[in-house]
Amino acid sequence: MLERRRFLQLGTLGLSALSFSGFKSNSETRKPIVISTWGEGIAANKAAWNILRVGGRALDAVEQGVMVTESSLNCCVGLGANPDRDGYVTLDSCIMDENANCGSVAFLERIKHPVSVARRVMEKTPHVMLVGSGAQQFALAQGFPLESAELSESAKKAYENWLIKSEYKPVINIENSKNQTAFAPNKLENGKWNHDTIGMVAMDANGNLSGSCTTSGMGFKMRGRLGDSPIIGAGLFVDNEIGAATATGQGEDVIRICGSHLVVELMRQGLSPENACKKAVERIIKIKGTSAKDIQVGFIAINKKGEYGGYCIQKGFDFAVCYADDKNFMIPGKFLI
Ligand code: ASP
Repeated sequence: MLERRRFLQLGTLGLSALSFSGFKSNSETRKPIVISTWGEGIAANKAAWNILRVGGRALDAVEQGVMVTESSLNCCVGLGANPDRDGYVTLDSCIMDENANCGSVAFLERIKHPVSVARRVMEKTPHVMLVGSGAQQFALAQGFPLESAELSESAKKAYENWLIKSEYKPVINIENSKNQTAFAPNKLENGKWNHDTIGMVAMDANGNLSGSCTTSGMGFKMRGRLGDSPIIGAGLFVDNEIGAATATGQGEDVIRICGSHLVVELMRQGLSPENACKKAVERIIKIKGTSAKDIQVGFIAINKKGEYGGYCIQKGFDFAVCYADDKNFMIPGKFLI
């Protein structure tokens, strides 16, 4: 009997998967849906969508989605990314599901998929966060291979270049220079994107939300520095009753306002995802005053209706939205200054 029920359930999922064509009307919930930060979000969304479109769980989608970005040697997420100022790549990541389960790793070295280690922390330990050598030890015990400590070719070049001046300038994600176009953020000279994070939030066909966030942090950062990305409530927050949000940009300033948690709480008060992101950005600008022009922070969010939105401090942040086989597209984040 149970088996038959499960068969029927699967049958329903299979059929609805065939008819997933995204949003139907204003009164309907748009689900499943996945959104993620920056241009890498398109490829990441695609992997996530492959899970969502057949009725898979949002948690699996947000893990598999950002793993694509972690694997890419051409972007600033994962082991191919720029190192800290001592020459080591250190990775931060977190994941959260519909039941407020969450896991996080930070200052993790030589492990290819920090998001999967974060998921294991969530599922296999009584803890939320593991850092540094402890996180690596846990990853190895869980069967994750220890990767080479060698920098990628492009990171090596960028580091050698940086060493010439060794100037410690903890500024990231200023992408509003003259080369900027809405859909193609600047690349640094070494061909890498001038940012270091992918954040992804998704709602599955059952209406459950999950999110993930993964980064190498700021290039040439002080050794041991953590940003917002592995911090639940800052870089990522999910509340299955309300919505989910994630952040990118200058992590210190996202932490100051518990950014992603703030966005979700603003949605709880009735704001749309876009307006909630906007209010959070306004709060950072209020705190930073005139120095806000020197930094970038972007938030993206979805709510339980499948509405989505994003906002950033200044021009140059875009995000990827996917809710159908033929709908995976970039949206330029609206900006305030
Ligand atoms: N938020 C990340 C950090 O501060 C970096 C980024 O999004 O580019 O580590």
